[in-house]
This record gives sequence, C-alpha cells and structure tokens, in this order.
Amino acid sequence: MSGDNPFTVLGDQPLIPELPPRPAFPQRIQRAYELSERYPGGVELLRFYARLAFSQQHVFDSLSISTAGGDASSSRKPKDRSFSSSLADTDGWPLLLQSVLPLFPGFAGSLAGISPAAMRDRASDIAASDEVAQAHLLTRFWNGDFAQEPANSGDSSLADRFIAVAFLQPYAEWLAQSGYSNSAAMGHAICPICASEPICAVLRDQDHGARRSLVCSLCMYEWSFLRAVCPACGEDRFDLLPVFTPQETPHVRIDACETCHHYLKTVDMTKDGLAVPIVDELAAVSLDLWATNHGYRKLTPNLAGF
Ligand SMILES: [Zn+2]
Ligand SMILES: [Zn+2]
Repeated sequence: MSGDNPFTVLGDQPLIPELPPRPAFPQRIQRAYELSERYPGGVELLRFYARLAFSQQHVFDSLSISTAGGDASSSRKPKDRSFSSSLADTDGWPLLLQSVLPLFPGFAGSLAGISPAAMRDRASDIAASDEVAQAHLLTRFWNGDFAQEPANSGDSSLADRFIAVAFLQPYAEWLAQSGYSNSAAMGHAICPICASEPICAVLRDQDHGARRSLVCSLCMYEWSFLRAVCPACGEDRFDLLPVFTPQETPHVRIDACETCHHYLKTVDMTKDGLAVPIVDELAAVSLDLWATNHGYRKLTPNLAGF
C-alpha cells in the first residue's frame, strides 16, 4: 500500500511532491507589472516590488554563480564549509556571512535608488556602513530579534527589518535550493525548510475541490496544509474560521480566526490560475487594512510592512 501513497511525510505534515517550485524572479516581476495595471491603487507598490525583485534576482544569481564550481578563488565562498557543486553537506540553516556580506552594500545601494523617501536614507546609510554593522543587522534578522510591529508604528527598526528581509529572501531561497534546512522546522504551520511563518495560503485545483498550501515568507517554499485549520493556533471549528472575500479582488481573500485573531490572505488559483501567490498577496494591501481595522493580526508582515 505504501507504494501507492502519493505523499511523503515529514513529521506530521504531508508534503505533496507535485506542488510547483518557487516562481522564478522574472515571473514575479511580470506578474507585478500585470497587477499594477489591474489595481491602479497599487501601482506604486507593485512597481517598487518589481524593481526590488530585480535586485533580489541579482543576489540569487550571484550566490548561485559563486558556488557553481567554476569560481574557485571567489571570496564569497564560505570557508567554514566545503562547497562543491553538489553541496552535499547541508545540515542546519546557517547565515553564511562570507557569502552574503560582499553582496549586501550593492543591494542596499540599489534599494536606496528605488525606494520611497522614508527608506532611501536608511538604505544609503546601511550601504555605506562598515561590515561589522552590516553583519549585525543581518544577524539580528536571522536570529529573529526584530520585533514584528505594525507598519504604522513609526519605529525606525521597521526600515532595518525590511532591508534585511528583502536581502535575505533570495539568500534563503538559494540556501534552500542548495539543500539546507532548519532542524527547528517541526511545527505544523511553519515552513518545513527554514522554520519561518507563512506569508499566504494558496488554493489549487484538486480532483473535485481545492487543496490548500502555505507559502513561506522567507524562502518561498510551498507546502501542503489542512484546509479548515487556523495555521496560528490550530483552531478547527468551522464557525470560528470566517472567510472574507472582497469584490475588488475575488481571487484573494482573508481567512481569519476568531480564537487567536490572526489572519492570512489566501490566493485562490482556482479563480485565477495565472496568480503568483507572493505577488498577488502583496498587491491586495486593501485586505490587510480591512483586517487590521477589524482587529485581526497577520502572522508575519510582507515586504510592504503589512
Ligand atoms: Zn521557508
Ligand atoms: Zn487561530
């Protein structure tokens, strides 16, 4: 019987192997431009995201090139780990500072060039700061030391957190694709690769209905998750899990929980099969405002700070 089972099991989470891989950066960029035409209110945010994704792709590509085996003298090659083209020795979920630090000033500089005024000065300062300060910032984020406060709190650490997460997302994707995983990733509703919280849920066609998966906020991995369970607290009573679907974004909705008052946006690909979940989630900022105004909290903020 086990040979007929389409699932492989990690802990108590069924992982369905046919879930799609992370969308490529050009796919995210293209979707952002498409959505910017569909949602006039989100033009600025989506165009900014498209430029940001371009810079993220540069980070991802640079990391991939530096470990492809053809660049033996590269200073980006971490000395604490023997990198071969196969990257076989890949336990843990390390922040390889020697790999990322050479790329960080350039990324922060490009961020300063495309950011709104509030972010520009901070990104410039970080680009010009010394390696110790840059390493400190990245390590703070990697260790989970940034308080996750609402976007309107005015705390300058929000800018630091944004710059760190925007830079470390492509690093995490590269790390995951290189075979690393976080041994702390045992919880039911956290990413089985890097142990971060989901940024959104996705519904996809399955036989006679839809199945739900969650998308990681850091490494972008997608994994299967039960449909009618709150990812934050495990609540499974149907009447305590309200769904709100706004008219303006019929394929993106709010799944909330009356027990813990968390919410997650769900991108329904049975209604729009061309959606790129992390981009469509970002585009639907109006839903975050609605949910916040109704007393719900998000599991973790997106790149817009919501
Ligand atoms: Zn992850
Ligand atoms: Zn809950």
